[in-house]
Amino acid sequence: MIVDLSDTLLPFELDPGEGVTVGLPGGESVEVRLVEAGARILFSTLPEAGVPFHSARTFYAFWAVVAVGGERVRLEREVPTWRSFYEPWQVGSLCIWLDAVKEIFSFLEDSTGDLAPRKAARLVVHGAEGRICPEPVHPWCPVRSEGLRIGDCYAGENCWLGPYHGAVAHGGLDVNHRPGTPLTAPITISDHYLVTSLARGDGNSRWLGHRRWSDGREWMLECENVGGLSVREHTPLNAGKRFAHGAGVHTGSREHTHFSFCILRDGVRYPVDPWMLFWQAKKDQQGTLSQRLR
Ligand SMILES: [Zn+2]
Repeated sequence: MIVDLSDTLLPFELDPGEGVTVGLPGGESVEVRLVEAGARILFSTLPEAGVPFHSARTFYAFWAVVAVGGERVRLEREVPTWRSFYEPWQVGSLCIWLDAVKEIFSFLEDSTGDLAPRKAARLVVHGAEGRICPEPVHPWCPVRSEGLRIGDCYAGENCWLGPYHGAVAHGGLDVNHRPGTPLTAPITISDHYLVTSLARGDGNSRWLGHRRWSDGREWMLECENVGGLSVREHTPLNAGKRFAHGAGVHTGSREHTHFSFCILRDGVRYPVDPWMLFWQAKKDQQGTLSQRLR
């Protein structure tokens, strides 16, 4: 079966030996086959392996070898280091993000129960022209001009799948900032609301925004620890519009907002790294700036 690339992110999971044929816009296609995938701990201060311990640190690497149209490429990542904020690999007609491998969960707990890939590796691809979606992406929250730093992610570990307390995979991306920091819609959102709300008696406030693209894929963007909404729930939200403030409530030992991102494709839910939205927003901001300077 051929899965069309279209103009939004295409997530999929593979076991070794399996491939997916990606249909390219020009009518050609290319197979992405997984050769192998794995993960290993680089360094850990956990007193007992696999048992969460306050302030313990674990650093790990993970990788996948893929064959793209017959060309073998090794994709390798590190978490939680500055390399957590990585560039996708450009291979032929595709940009490839290595989102997760199952083996990470042999040493990290799955904090939400759905972070681990169902197969050996989860990949996300888009076209080599380098966009994750057809619209400009706005910053979800203010980010320092040089970009995200791992030290900005709670205690320096809460990037996507970062090992919270050394042993628990973090299901999102934390960005430290002061209470009252504006949160703005990265893309145009068709529906949004508070899933949980402090005002309604829940333990924290969690915002969820939906966007269904013309290719049928749906993006779900979430923020936790949000302060009060500045727009009405269940109303369309334009890209770049402020909708709430961050680091509002119950932020633990660092004031932060927790961002998460999930793609629904053909009825299957793929939790993926929110970094891709921050990456595109930075690229789009740089593009706007260079246009202005021209
Ligand atoms: Zn978090």
